Amino acid sequence: MKNLLIEFMDRKISVYDPYAGSSLENEITLCYIDVLSTCNLACPSCPVGNMKKVPGTIMDSDKFEKIIIKLKNEYQHLDEIGLYNWTEPLLHPKLSEFIKVVKDAGFSCTMSTNLNYLGKLEDVVKSEPNILRISLSGFEQKTYEKGHKKGNIETVKQNMKILADFIKKYNSKTKVVVLYLKYKHNISDIPAMKEFAQMLGFEFEEYWAYLMPVEKNLEYIETPEKIDPETKEIINSLEIEPTEHLKILEPYKKDRCLLIENQLVLNAAGEIELCCASYNPLYTNKNFLDLTPEEIRDLRHKNDLCEKCMKHGINMIYSTVIGDSDLKHHSERITKILG
Ligand code: SF4
Ligand code: SF4
Repeated sequence: MKNLLIEFMDRKISVYDPYAGSSLENEITLCYIDVLSTCNLACPSCPVGNMKKVPGTIMDSDKFEKIIIKLKNEYQHLDEIGLYNWTEPLLHPKLSEFIKVVKDAGFSCTMSTNLNYLGKLEDVVKSEPNILRISLSGFEQKTYEKGHKKGNIETVKQNMKILADFIKKYNSKTKVVVLYLKYKHNISDIPAMKEFAQMLGFEFEEYWAYLMPVEKNLEYIETPEKIDPETKEIINSLEIEPTEHLKILEPYKKDRCLLIENQLVLNAAGEIELCCASYNPLYTNKNFLDLTPEEIRDLRHKNDLCEKCMKHGINMIYSTVIGDSDLKHHSERITKILG
């Protein structure tokens, strides 16, 4: 392990391994819920942009409330609900109501948005999610559109100003964090976006982008000839190419995965997903509301993908932190998962 770190020392690479301090085994502490099944962008490093579309669905209030009640009653270690995974939550017209439901149940509520669309942002600010993340990848349009395809950074900047005004108007306690996804092509835009975000009173964090989801990494490793040109281009933009990433993480490889042990993921139909890093539905028609926690755990552990994923160590890409202190957000997130 030491040699490996020295080998990459020139690039100041270090690895944060959350498994070393893992205390909660098979205890769900974090649940992601996609409140609808679509996004307005098509980022090439995300399955929404690089895989086949899933059928459109939107979650209704009744189902959402039942899910939150069940989570409250059956998962005693759960403390955070993230209203996002592979989607843009602001597209849901009832997002602010959902945030209130989550908070009234005593959970911490987080959301992540590309902020190209305002939706009912004022109501969302009034309902005070604990953390609102804005994910972006540039300050200039020609840079931004490479990582956030179909997005417009001038619209995002305008919406950031509107958000800052709402936060001030309602004296909101919501922590707004700008997450800057770093690629080789957008490093020079970082200072300008950092200054802009901080001027608005938002926190700023930066971290290296990586390829999503698990299935796309598997395809890249096992059948690279099948990778489409657009995905190839984004892989070439990654500071740490996926096979190099796996090489760095080889000494940390585990035959267990925190993403299945400590997280639960539901899609907009209320169905159980395997984990937040995989995209294909695990079992359609296996609804969270109809199953006990034990049945859900058994279902999730009976799947073909985890074995292949762990064989290559892909799970470590999503559950370790590689880089330096700029990956503070991921460290915090993983620390949270571990309780
Ligand atoms: S990364 Fe986020 S904004 Fe981009 S397509 Fe995926 S869900 Fe949408
Ligand atoms: S092993 Fe891979 S596919 Fe399975 S839960 Fe972990 S990250 Fe997801």
